[in-house]
Amino acid sequence: MPKNLSKIAKTKKIKYFLISFVDLFGVLRSKLVPAQAIGDMQKDGAGFAGFATWLDMTPADSDMFGVPDPDSLIQLPWNKEIGWLASDLYMDGKPVKASPRIMLKEQIKKLSQKKLQMKSGVECEYFLISEDGHSLADKRDIQSKPCYDQSALMRRYDLIKEICDCMLEMGWKPYQNDHEDANGQFEMNWDYTDSLITADRHVFFKFMVKSLAEKHGLRATFMPKPFSNLTGNGCHAHVSVWNGKINKFLDNKDQLGLSKLAYNFLGGIMNNTQALSAFFNPTINSYRRINAPPTKSGATWSPSSISYTGNNRTHMIRIPDRGRFELRLMDGSANPYLIQAGIIAAGLEGINKKLNPGKPLHCNMYEDYKKYPKLKKLPNDINQAINMLQNSKALLKAFGTDVIKSYIKLKNSEIKNFKVRNVFNKRKPVSQWEKDNTLDC
Ligand SMILES: [Mg+2]
Repeated sequence: MPKNLSKIAKTKKIKYFLISFVDLFGVLRSKLVPAQAIGDMQKDGAGFAGFATWLDMTPADSDMFGVPDPDSLIQLPWNKEIGWLASDLYMDGKPVKASPRIMLKEQIKKLSQKKLQMKSGVECEYFLISEDGHSLADKRDIQSKPCYDQSALMRRYDLIKEICDCMLEMGWKPYQNDHEDANGQFEMNWDYTDSLITADRHVFFKFMVKSLAEKHGLRATFMPKPFSNLTGNGCHAHVSVWNGKINKFLDNKDQLGLSKLAYNFLGGIMNNTQALSAFFNPTINSYRRINAPPTKSGATWSPSSISYTGNNRTHMIRIPDRGRFELRLMDGSANPYLIQAGIIAAGLEGINKKLNPGKPLHCNMYEDYKKYPKLKKLPNDINQAINMLQNSKALLKAFGTDVIKSYIKLKNSEIKNFKVRNVFNKRKPVSQWEKDNTLDC
């Protein structure tokens, strides 16, 4: 029996529910529903006009309905009268295939047919900036190597503590908070878990950080590269694949601690990286972060070539510990559901075709890249990434041609809109268009 939201509302004194979904561009959209109406909404869903969001629909399409997943319920720790729910979109009684949460569930289903489940954790970096988005909030945060700076971290103690307290209360098991490599940049880590739960939490985390920052008179941004001279906002994921309680990625006899299955999965990721960039680095601004020149701190901490290694942060994939790997490609504008869905889809191709990722490289890739001219490079801009996605047999098969077509159609309309007055140039300052369209990603 699914949980009865009406009853839960009474017990937990929830007055309103946010029935939410995330569209293809990662925008979080909701209806605020009084608790008295939640019973019907749990059955039928909340109505939305799809064309009004970033989904490939027309104004003539039927209403779509967001059917809340009661297992995703989060009572807002900072406003207990509100309960947040992730929902799955349906239209004319059928799931909306080109919608991110459904896309992820489809990949989870395919993986589960092999009796496997992916667990993951995400590291969402963000900046605290001024209201207008032009400068950092902390004027004293000017060190050239500000990473882990205790004073700059503690000047934001009130906000960081409030966010971390919320995660403790929600049972996410947060374990560390720090000042990151760019001035004004922070990261907060919580425990890894099943990929769908991580994706829902990732969506909620961004909402929570932005909301609480506002409460403290600040603005938080996950934009990939708001300041061209500073390290960008990455969103690395740590990945392992399990059968129940057994980590199928772990092999203690292997030098790096990974199993054959893990290497095949890795092979799938590396085989599809260029096309996956269209999901993992989905904005025009994303391409200021990858293939970028060194920043003020001395490194970009983001990849440019497709390679993997042991515990070494200059490569796209790092194996920091036995039984898991870290994919360092994604940035703060990536859609939380498409991150997980893309990883599973590519990993599954690797498992099915027993793809070999080749030997790990143990060099400093930021300096030694010229020694490896044959390594595949990451796309240089969003157009290249979209072209790669369009021609990716593996991803077209994994998600369905229509779903990928919808995504590309919307992305192309966005690129067209940018190009009316702009030319993408990494050497030029971040454009107003990029700020207007990406600061609140
Ligand atoms: Mg980080």
